[in-house]
Amino acid sequence: MRVTQLFTKTSKNAPADEVAKNAQLLIRGGYVHKEMAGVYAYLPLGKRVLDKIIQIIREEMNSVGGNEISMTALQHSDVWKKSGRWDDKVMDVWFKTQLANGTELGLAPTHEEPITKMMKSFIHSYKDLPVYPYQFQIKFRNELRSKSGLMRGREFWMKDLYSFSRTQEEHDAFYEEISSAYSRIFDRLGLGAITFKTFASGGSFAKFSHEYQTLSPVGEDTIYVHEARNLAINEEVYNDEVLADLGINKAELTQQTAVEVGNIFTLGTRFSDPLDLNFTDENGESKPVIMGSYGVGPSRLMGLIAEHFADDKGLIWPEEVAPFRVYLISIGNVKAEADALYEQLTSQGIEVLFDDRDERPGAKFADAELLGIPYRVTISERLLAEEKLEFTPRSSGESVLLTASELLAKLARK
Ligand code: ATP
Ligand code: MG
Repeated sequence: MRVTQLFTKTSKNAPADEVAKNAQLLIRGGYVHKEMAGVYAYLPLGKRVLDKIIQIIREEMNSVGGNEISMTALQHSDVWKKSGRWDDKVMDVWFKTQLANGTELGLAPTHEEPITKMMKSFIHSYKDLPVYPYQFQIKFRNELRSKSGLMRGREFWMKDLYSFSRTQEEHDAFYEEISSAYSRIFDRLGLGAITFKTFASGGSFAKFSHEYQTLSPVGEDTIYVHEARNLAINEEVYNDEVLADLGINKAELTQQTAVEVGNIFTLGTRFSDPLDLNFTDENGESKPVIMGSYGVGPSRLMGLIAEHFADDKGLIWPEEVAPFRVYLISIGNVKAEADALYEQLTSQGIEVLFDDRDERPGAKFADAELLGIPYRVTISERLLAEEKLEFTPRSSGESVLLTASELLAKLARK
């Protein structure tokens, strides 16, 4: 893509009311537009980052047998009344609305109830199970505080997968599989080393649920990390009984602040009972379906990655989620050569954002740093005279001079 075709512009300042570093940087780079507190639009560059995060999650959900769907944002109150979660005292983040005839609707805060009802049309016998539908969808939650930028939206993206199993054993086996898939997601996003599978409260059907918590000074959660065992315990279940259960000594733990980026939850028959989702087993007996739910926040992850991988000059995207791999800068009278290099790189499948603007070099370099694209390539008359290009990784900032073929070899997919 050419910068001259991009309608967004970078800016020196973020809106005065934006206090979160992730949103300040993303707004300044033209990645997102702030509609209001906790509500952000994704602009062309931001949409590319979000899509890359989503694609990594999608591949891992497909690898455990997920079936991708897209449910509705408008939800009928009836299903929520059946589960007991329509009441604002039970669920305090509702956005509610109604049809012209007065029928009450909610804007999807999550999808356990509607999907349990929907699956009644497809699950009848043991032969129909197990199944794992999932989706990427905008959720609406009237969060009281929304000062963390993309990390706590009132409208945000969620991946939610729901498991429907015949027996507890079948459920438990899937729970372990998706737990490994979650670890792969955070590894691929470059967050593996600072993300811990965390024991949290389990509800009525399991002693624990598990959160995936990423260490961050701006996190809202407190966890106790066991580095050697690569796990953590959430403050809410941090007590002597749980420590004894897990065979952990207090002295081995360090207290940290963290952000919940995902969670996996055993639901048992919490929703299949009130919504009558049953199946007929091999012996002709009717049984409730055993469920689980598994969330990840793609927009929270985007905010967290922006917050974590940054310096005083701007963003530093990990390659896996960067909107482009190369930021190509042309300086001076090199239009034909720069165009040819752009064509050559893109024809090799390398994603290039080509700064073809008629701008001062300093402004182009500053934008390259703010936008945080992994590799900057500079072409100029002086460099062309030596048959060289300048190659500068954003992470180190250290430039080397390369020939065109050396550059191509460096950028060939690892
Ligand atoms: P939190 O305790 O941070 O409010 P939650 O327990 O309400 O999170 P879930 O309902 O389990 O979160 O949602 C699944 C995932 O969706 C979370 O792990 C998180 O990544 C993401 N998420 C939840 N709330 C938000 C939000 N307001 N903005 C952005 N992402 C969110
Ligand atoms: Mg919440």
